[in-house]
Amino acid sequence: MKLSTPIFFTLVLLGSAGGAYSNPPYSGTVWVDLDIITAADPSAFIQIVSIGSGPRVMFDRRADNGNGDWVTINARLFQASYTDGNAIEIQVNPEFEPSEAAIKARFYGYAIGQLPKLLRLDVETVWIHRGNKPFGGRNDNILIHTDALGYHGSALEETLFHEACHTSLDSRLYGAAWSNAQTLDGEYISTYAKDNPAREDIAESCALYYAVRFKPERLSEIDLNLITKTIKNRMLVFDSLGMEPVTDSDRPLKSTPSVAISGSSRTISDTDNAAGESISFTANATDTDGTIVTTQWLIDGVEVATGSSATLSLPNGLTVVTFKATDDDGISSTTTATITVTAPAYEPTEEWPSPYNGITPDSSFGLAFNNIGVFSASDSIIYVCLRIFTDGLPSSVNGVSQFDMRLKVASLSEATVQITKFREFNSNGALNEDAQTPDCSGIFETTTGVYTDIIQTNTSVLETTWNLIEPANLILKLDSFKELAAN
Ligand SMILES: [Zn+2]
Repeated sequence: MKLSTPIFFTLVLLGSAGGAYSNPPYSGTVWVDLDIITAADPSAFIQIVSIGSGPRVMFDRRADNGNGDWVTINARLFQASYTDGNAIEIQVNPEFEPSEAAIKARFYGYAIGQLPKLLRLDVETVWIHRGNKPFGGRNDNILIHTDALGYHGSALEETLFHEACHTSLDSRLYGAAWSNAQTLDGEYISTYAKDNPAREDIAESCALYYAVRFKPERLSEIDLNLITKTIKNRMLVFDSLGMEPVTDSDRPLKSTPSVAISGSSRTISDTDNAAGESISFTANATDTDGTIVTTQWLIDGVEVATGSSATLSLPNGLTVVTFKATDDDGISSTTTATITVTAPAYEPTEEWPSPYNGITPDSSFGLAFNNIGVFSASDSIIYVCLRIFTDGLPSSVNGVSQFDMRLKVASLSEATVQITKFREFNSNGALNEDAQTPDCSGIFETTTGVYTDIIQTNTSVLETTWNLIEPANLILKLDSFKELAAN
């Protein structure tokens, strides 16, 4: 490849002629309309990968006392890849620290990916230097000076468009067909093009052609008519190239995070002599095109822990634990582990025939509790459970908040019962026949000694109220009762 000084235009050429019809209509075309491509438009850019450093011959407009010259420097090198075309080697002046060089390479690599694929055909390299100097296009390259304010901001995409037209279209288009179109049009789009008809005419016409064909809604009515009228025949030559905008379908697919829970689904025996089990989890999350930003542990959709490991208290029975990771694109992945905690087998005794007191009420009673007390006719014992309340609030006795009680009838005529046995309610966390944790219908208020409960007998379901009349002997006397009706 023969190296030539990159072509550029200067800020002196800024601005359009507005609505006035002069010949040519604009002085320079880059600043006619700054939203032909905007920062929000799609890019075919995938990523940059650092490929180290190496000596590269680059043009630097600051060299030779600002006249510009070729320099050989040990450039920081990045490969920018695109969904629709060849990779570009981005060569960054080592005056940028590595991290800043990567940021610059990514920034310009993305903006170049917003240009039509056709304009990137011959862009094999990009040079990035500091300095307030014009950009340039030629040499299968785009030259960038990062302090050139007029070429940045909303003008960046239009500036790159102009330079990429030099790089990829000049060698393809200047020729007989273009000369013929110039003659037929009989005018130039800008003074800059008119002054340099064999060097700037294509690059000056290029972005405005693209705007008329693909983004007419972004042009004013005046500019739309003016451009179409001035370069009508040149536009037909551009049409033959098949230029197309980058669209959303050219954007790279974002990868979703990979997630896994080690150990996964399993059954665990409840070994700690308390309901449920404390279980440790570890998960792994990775993202191929970015970083993991958040990790969460969820049960029934509710966050119960964050981080990659967690220790969760699970009830007996089956629990689905979800691990969720979200990446820097806001994309989430989840995975689950189903943990079954099995309660130890219960050994029935004469005093405590079941792992917990009470039975499941018939649903026709519509009770708020799934477990109520029961009168056992065979041994004349009432098996109940109760929750301790003090001053109307849940409390406990010796750290125990729910008790199983075994009530023996003391006197039928006086309607009294005696607490003959008690223990902690459902200490091994047994589940009822619906695989639910049983709750306890009874309430004992310590401040008044009043006990209320729902108790099922052979024939009915009773809402009962009792008073502790002899605390020393644990004697309760029935105060009132009401038979509940099924719905
Ligand atoms: Zn130019």
